[in-house]
Amino acid sequence: MLESVADIGCGGTLSTMDAVILSVGTELVTGECLDTNSAWISTRLTSYGVRVVRHVTIGDELDRLATSIRHALKASDLVIITGGLGPTEDDLSRHALASALDVDLKENVKALKQITDFFGRREWRMSDSNRRQALIPAGCGVIFNPRGTAPGILYESEAAGVSGGKMLVALPGVPAEMKVMFEAVVEPRLRETGRATASDRVQCFGIDESKLGEILADMMRRDRNPLVGTTASGAIISVRVMATGRSRDEAIRLLDADLAELERRIGDRVFARGDGSLQATVAGLLTKSGRTIATAESCTGGLLAKRLTDVAGSSEYFLRGFVTYSNESKVEELAVPCELIAEHGAVSEPVARAMAEGCRARAKSDYGVGITGIAGPGGGDTPDKPVGLVYVALSQAGGCEVRRFLTGEHLTREEVRDRTAKRAFNFLRLDLLKSLGS
Ligand code: ATP
Repeated sequence: MLESVADIGCGGTLSTMDAVILSVGTELVTGECLDTNSAWISTRLTSYGVRVVRHVTIGDELDRLATSIRHALKASDLVIITGGLGPTEDDLSRHALASALDVDLKENVKALKQITDFFGRREWRMSDSNRRQALIPAGCGVIFNPRGTAPGILYESEAAGVSGGKMLVALPGVPAEMKVMFEAVVEPRLRETGRATASDRVQCFGIDESKLGEILADMMRRDRNPLVGTTASGAIISVRVMATGRSRDEAIRLLDADLAELERRIGDRVFARGDGSLQATVAGLLTKSGRTIATAESCTGGLLAKRLTDVAGSSEYFLRGFVTYSNESKVEELAVPCELIAEHGAVSEPVARAMAEGCRARAKSDYGVGITGIAGPGGGDTPDKPVGLVYVALSQAGGCEVRRFLTGEHLTREEVRDRTAKRAFNFLRLDLLKSLGS
């Protein structure tokens, strides 16, 4: 198991660089304006291997803002402030920064020239309040704003920010202004750190997040490189890996080693690397095996067929889809014996089996999938047949296997159908893997 960069013999670990993002503006704390700046900056910083440890949002209040800046400078190597650099009385970032650094605010000649030039080029009259924007804390640099009047402010402690000291950058709140200035000033400095990152993910089905957390506990330590984290959505768990190295090649080497280790530990519950879907994986395996398929669906109402045909090229293997919602249609379309339904009910193992076998025989396909269940919210009237009870049958020349699933009564109708389709695809995927000998 790789624990750090040092373990692959690159000569020592990369020290981490921590960042705090402060977004300033009363409109952000009241909810009138969504803080998109922090998300954008975080994504950029993360891609350079910088660890964003905190987002702080503060209203236009001088003392609170100064306190937050002091804390941020103490707690991290890099602080990015956005907002509060405008010309009005409630734009207080420059005052708060001077207070936090314990220095005076001085009118900066370079900043004043930028502002007067901005107005001059447009033949606009500059108001007195714009002069405020030329006030810069002593010892700080001025960042050119090519799109607006507010110059940015750069503070670097003695040992320059990127090589061990602290760096603080104050940028305007307007996203378009903030972005060009970030790209012009922050990114070149981050590039100088010689860090590169590489990231990817594996997607898993059929394992819960807590179990995954146990299997991957050591790999998910926050002080480890690569960083490994999980997110769950719609019963699919993504395990994200982000590796940081001194070069792109090194980052990719670390990433690949971790992805291989994840696949070894999680086994066949990993169904894709990157962005693939369960149906895309099944499609690939069906193509590889040369096998064909037909479906007979009740509670999923054609969802399986829909998802199968979402994948381009599905006409190669998908022969026919039956949506047999009523008992009559199960009998007429799939030759499910009436007595079977009368004796066991439409939602039962024998009926699922007969549906799978029936559609396979009608379509003359290699696989037949039968699905019957109770999607809810009504219908789950007896304790042995609750909402969310689903039978999925997989028929092929060698026989028919039926699985009983309980998707849970807490799920909505849409969710029961979604989980059922995913389980059916996973059932098929595992069988295809077995038959392909992988
Ligand atoms: P300028 O002088 O160019 O207005 P500024 O630093 O004073 O710059 P603010 O007044 O704080 O900027 O914000 C200007 C506008 O930018 C806000 O009204 C809002 O629409 C947008 N904005 C500010 N902060 C954010 C943020 N964190 N995320 C998204 N949009 C923001």
